[in-house]
Amino acid sequence: MHNLASYAVSSENSRGRRIKEKSPPGRSEFQRDRDRIIHSTAFRRLEYKTQVFVNHEGDLFRTRLTHSLEVAQIGRSVARNLRLNEDLVEAIALAHDLGHTPFGHAGQEALNECMKDHNGFEHNLQSLRVVDILEERYGAFDGLNLCFETREGILKHCAKKNARKLGDVGERFLANQRPSLEAQLTNLADEIAYNNHDVDDGLRSGLITQEQLEEVSIFSRHLAMSKKEYPKISGRKLIHETVRCMINTLVVDLIKQSTANIASARLDSLRAVSVAPYLISFSEEIKKDQQELKKFLHNSLYHHYQVARMSNKAQHTVKMLFNVFSEDTRLLPPKYQVKSHENKYQAIADYIAGMTDRYAIREYRRLFTIKEN
Ligand code: MG
Repeated sequence: MHNLASYAVSSENSRGRRIKEKSPPGRSEFQRDRDRIIHSTAFRRLEYKTQVFVNHEGDLFRTRLTHSLEVAQIGRSVARNLRLNEDLVEAIALAHDLGHTPFGHAGQEALNECMKDHNGFEHNLQSLRVVDILEERYGAFDGLNLCFETREGILKHCAKKNARKLGDVGERFLANQRPSLEAQLTNLADEIAYNNHDVDDGLRSGLITQEQLEEVSIFSRHLAMSKKEYPKISGRKLIHETVRCMINTLVVDLIKQSTANIASARLDSLRAVSVAPYLISFSEEIKKDQQELKKFLHNSLYHHYQVARMSNKAQHTVKMLFNVFSEDTRLLPPKYQVKSHENKYQAIADYIAGMTDRYAIREYRRLFTIKEN
């Protein structure tokens, strides 16, 4: 990769892999990470895992797979503009949701509750478990043996008690240091992607209306801009144009503000990034806009009664599965029974977290209903 900034992560200044491997010919270390992620089982399952809506509700809604692709696409444009490592950003973006449970946030909350006496469940930590331990693809090691920087980027948040057990990637939480700019950037690309696609999916589902959204400043400004530029368009086309404009504004603002932050911090090396404040950020004005939009989505979409009903069913499903396996581990598939001898609750959590929405629904049926022929 050419022309990287001195404070970008590169194959040369990487802290490397846990198990040493020869450099790949014709690819950078981070391209190899990305390729391993794309070939993983957990990545393929993202197609049938949801963010807000349950997977079978409609073909047009985002799944975790399309979400991850959108994050990678947004992240790469910003990385290229800031002369950061695009391949690393892409790898982190494609892996960032690998540890998510079925049924989005509802599933995660339910599993966390089930695990509360057994060290809890955090999806970030689970994403790291997937790439470090759970994937079974390579003869030489468990997991994907990714580079330190990719693993660090995947572990966005982490409680201190867990950080102590994680070794190298946990250090920064204990020392209160910042991750690479590539990791910071991917985190904000995630935010840009989900706020905007939730507006789009929310409108498409009919759970929120354009009139409601017109009360939200960033939406109404961009709607007005789109109407002015294209007076003849309406309906879905107008909404798509508005969302497109919003994403563009956020990306341009993120590049501009982060460039200014980096310049004023006088960064000269990758090391300097860890002790500087967070440097990838939106401007104050856009931060306010984003907060207003998030609050709206929180109140009007994520807590809409129809979403709440669905979340309730999802939580019930996860809890029932967890309870039945806890009562009798012989109901687990053989592979997880073996794992349960070592750590019963972790094995159950790994099994449930790996399920897609439809797999969890089917597993529930298989365990709790008797079908008459
Ligand atoms: Mg995400």
